[in-house]
Amino acid sequence: MKFTQEHEELRRTVRNFVEKEINPHVEEWEENGPFPAHELFKKMGDLGLLGVTKPEKYGGMGLDYSYGLVVAEELGAIRCGGVPLAIGVQTDMATPALARFGSEALCNEYLVPALKGEYVASIAVSEPAAGSDVAAIKTRAEKKDGDYVINGTKMWITNSTQADWFCLLANTSEGSKHKNKSMIIVPRDAKGIEVSKPLNKLGMRSSDTAQVFFDNVHVPQRNLVGMEGAGFMMQMMQFQEERMWGAANAYGGMNGLIQETIAYTRQRETFGQPLINNQSIHFRFAELQTEVEALRALIYHTCELYISNGNPTKTLQLASMCKLKAGRLVREISDSCLQYWGGMGFMWDNVAARSLRDGRLASIGGGADEIMLGIICKTMDILPGKAKG
Ligand SMILES: Cc1cc2nc3c(=O)[nH]c(=O)nc-3n(C[C@H](O)[C@H](O)[C@H](O)COP(=O)(O)OP(=O)(O)OC[C@H]3O[C@@H](n4cnc5c(N)ncnc54)[C@H](O)[C@@H]3O)c2cc1C
Repeated sequence: MKFTQEHEELRRTVRNFVEKEINPHVEEWEENGPFPAHELFKKMGDLGLLGVTKPEKYGGMGLDYSYGLVVAEELGAIRCGGVPLAIGVQTDMATPALARFGSEALCNEYLVPALKGEYVASIAVSEPAAGSDVAAIKTRAEKKDGDYVINGTKMWITNSTQADWFCLLANTSEGSKHKNKSMIIVPRDAKGIEVSKPLNKLGMRSSDTAQVFFDNVHVPQRNLVGMEGAGFMMQMMQFQEERMWGAANAYGGMNGLIQETIAYTRQRETFGQPLINNQSIHFRFAELQTEVEALRALIYHTCELYISNGNPTKTLQLASMCKLKAGRLVREISDSCLQYWGGMGFMWDNVAARSLRDGRLASIGGGADEIMLGIICKTMDILPGKAKG
């Protein structure tokens, strides 16, 4: 992938923003969270950082996904996973389908203020009994007098205690579970919505995750995104950006963690010499950095293919590989780095400990590792009973 001066300028802008506006507050947000989404998103919106890949007519920069990737990578320098996760939900998880398939009126009402950072967005897909198996969701949206009437419960919804709207996946008819779902934009202030208290999580402490209850919630039918019945397909497409974003963001964080751990092992002495002088340790850093570079190459390759729009099946396969590899690697790197921090690594606020806790989500959220493996197998055409020859 060739990065231009524009990419580098964008990279610098995000880096400065992270250093000045985010990292000085991270400890407080992690301790007393959630972080103030409206305040932070407004600042990002003013710089255009929430709409880098979104159409210019809605206030975005209209750039291709390589620019989105640069933003995701740089957000990896945030000293926790919760804040970048929340930003990623706003830019790459709750808004891609709306921007691509939503009517102009719907985009003007919900996307434009989300890109400005005035509205906080959530993606509401998972349910208490349906996470990996998205097609098994039970939430229903029934048509009545020009509205959809929504009933159901969504689970583990990021940004939801601060959200202004939800990009909701719901069943709108009977029949095939891949063709009976629709995507609907639901404003938070609609009557009948209740959001639980933030859930008490292992990691991502600065981000709010809650349960959302919909009890006879009326939403105008014009809030439908794209075509009725195309919700599952649109969500699968939306997942592609989520997965590439997640991998690029994790990659950015891993680099920083390795560097910080190297710095620590340079100054920490045991048996009269710096820890890093031990070959087993500096070789391990070399191994980990090699893995990170391999992941980076995979992400860039996937992004190039995605931008070229050339081979959707291959892109799906590669995006799933990026997510799988990133989830596993962040665990391996966090654990290895934690080891070299010794007792310090076992302290709650230690950078490696936080990375281990926050990074653990990468193998679960947005499609668990096993779901990625299933997609990769399907695209390799090696499933039992489907083998060629
Ligand atoms: C902090 C956090 C934030 C989240 N944010 C959001 C959000 O904003 N919006 C949203 O919609 N959802 C969100 N989620 C939900 C997340 O996407 C789901 O947790 C995830 O998809 C897994 O679903 P599940 O938890 O129901 O696990 P299950 O589907 O119950 O699966 C449990 C485990 O079983 C394994 N497994 C599942 N299926 C298979 C299979 N076929 N073969 C082999 N193994 C399998 C996997 O290891 C999986 O982790 C969030 C979750 C967390 C924890």
